[in-house]
Amino acid sequence: FQAEDGIRDLVRSRGLGDVYKRQMEGRYVRKDGHPIYVNVTVSLVQWQDVNARFAIVMLEDISARKEAQAALVRSEKLALTGKLAASLAHEINNPLQSVLGFMSLVEELLEENEEKAKEDARTYIRIAIEEVKRAADLVRQMRNINRPSALDERKPVDVNTLVERVLTLSQKKCQEQHVQVTWKAADDVALVSAIPDQIHQVFLNLTLNALDAMPDGGELHISTARTEAPAGVEICFADDGEGIAPDKLGHLFEPFYTTKTTGMGLGLYISQKIIQEHGGRMNVESVAGEGTAFTVWLPMQRGTE
Ligand code: ADP
Repeated sequence: FQAEDGIRDLVRSRGLGDVYKRQMEGRYVRKDGHPIYVNVTVSLVQWQDVNARFAIVMLEDISARKEAQAALVRSEKLALTGKLAASLAHEINNPLQSVLGFMSLVEELLEENEEKAKEDARTYIRIAIEEVKRAADLVRQMRNINRPSALDERKPVDVNTLVERVLTLSQKKCQEQHVQVTWKAADDVALVSAIPDQIHQVFLNLTLNALDAMPDGGELHISTARTEAPAGVEICFADDGEGIAPDKLGHLFEPFYTTKTTGMGLGLYISQKIIQEHGGRMNVESVAGEGTAFTVWLPMQRGTE
């Protein structure tokens, strides 16, 4: 058992009279070369009135438990990948089927020489192009999902500036939909370490979702605030739109969950993934008929506190 020396050092490093008990997990190599996971408990015992002490070291082989845990994680990951692949296949198959259908119609129409047939063919081709675009868009979004988070692409980002960029982009749509925007930027918001384009995508998703929830106008309140312990920045998007029923709240972040006829249901799924990869989190609170608030929290970049 090769950990012996380490434990001996540990015991030696403590002063006489110390009361000490420590538990740790380690990966050790058995004499036969087989690696095992062990739970080690070390207790220092002081012999009464005598200038001597000893340590009790207990070792418990937890390899089987560790392996079971790892197997569980592996099978959960596998199940999720399978589910994702099945949904993706379904989502891509839909537009492909309609392209097939419309192209067969176009083929038939080509046999005819009338002007009306040509016009119909043009309409079908336009629909087919839209459908192919939809499938391509889906593939593009999925490609980004499992991209490993590129740590070296991160840079210090001012979230207030990102929110303002999103507001400029969505200004026209807000006006058209009679949505009044109030923007409260905290002036002490520090920098976060982030990939700016990704965070921008999240803010844009949340803003566009809020607009979709207010087809007949309403109010969108966006604010940023600094948080302490843990240090970070909280960004809130609150609308007074249609809200979300309690039984739907739990599904929002699932891939392909959508209640919109033209929605893809990937916006929130991807947004949450991006925020989690940045070490942050995302929450939603909603009351059906009253409105919805999405809150994003991002950890502060070290050294800027
Ligand atoms: P999509 O916008 O393509 O539907 P999302 O993942 O962005 O995909 O959103 C999933 C679903 O969450 C939407 O279809 C909608 O039902 C709900 N949702 C998201 N944001 C809001 C909001 N601000 N108010 C009401 N419902 C929302």
